Amino acid sequence: MLHIGCHLSSSKGFAAMGRQALELGADTFQFFTRNPRGSKAKDLDPADAAALVELMAEHRFAPIIAHAPYTLNLCGAEERNRAFARETMADDLRRMEHVPGQYYNFHPGSHVGQGTETGIAYIADGLNAILREDQTTTVLLETMAGKGSEVGGRFEELRAILDRVALSGKMGVCLDTCHVSDGGYDIINDLDGVLTEFDKVIGLSRLKAIHLNDSKNPAGARKDRHACIGEGCIGLEALARVVRHPALKDLPFCLETPNELPGYAREIALMREQAEA
Ligand code: FE
Ligand code: FE
Ligand code: ZN
Repeated sequence: MLHIGCHLSSSKGFAAMGRQALELGADTFQFFTRNPRGSKAKDLDPADAAALVELMAEHRFAPIIAHAPYTLNLCGAEERNRAFARETMADDLRRMEHVPGQYYNFHPGSHVGQGTETGIAYIADGLNAILREDQTTTVLLETMAGKGSEVGGRFEELRAILDRVALSGKMGVCLDTCHVSDGGYDIINDLDGVLTEFDKVIGLSRLKAIHLNDSKNPAGARKDRHACIGEGCIGLEALARVVRHPALKDLPFCLETPNELPGYAREIALMREQAEA
């Protein structure tokens, strides 16, 4: 069965997100660990986290995805920005151990003119400072659209980061369909070719989750503006091929489409239908 869910608000806590996911027909979900500014996270209630763990086991959830604030930048130009990103991510990872064995996804960063090589080095240094031998969370690098000075728009860049991380067994990749299409990978006409390329450069065993989004822009646009399923340039047929692909079909899929909850429920049902078709 397809594992699919959507991005949810974390304002009511862990267990509330689990119940919300069930109401939407989801068996996974994603949430921001704190607001996008990366301010202090709410105090964590261990009983609330335990209730989610129980709900997920009872309803056979696929792993869920905690998403780091997208404003963090492990490869910022100033040490205090990089340090803030490291400290916030380390704190998120400590908190995630209350819901063991899940994913923590982050945008690799923007090199802000320092160059991709320097960006990659800072990102890997940051990860080496954060990752712990005893953590149960797998940290995911998200494939990016390559907008501005973003690192991670090419598979080679993600590979270069992974190669420099000592505890590389704690690392994986989350493929965002909008981002890779915007980055110039032709998932519309040649999904097999893109996955072959991913396998050659990174290795498909690293691929742990999919962000399932349509794109407001054509392939190669480097824009990163998500569209609802079937309302963008990727289209329903191409996204259906993604959820049906034998190399992908057992991964958790997460919608980050511009929807309110009823729209998410519709898209979850639609993709479950498409997965069976
Ligand atoms: Fe993201
Ligand atoms: Fe995404
Ligand atoms: Zn995006």
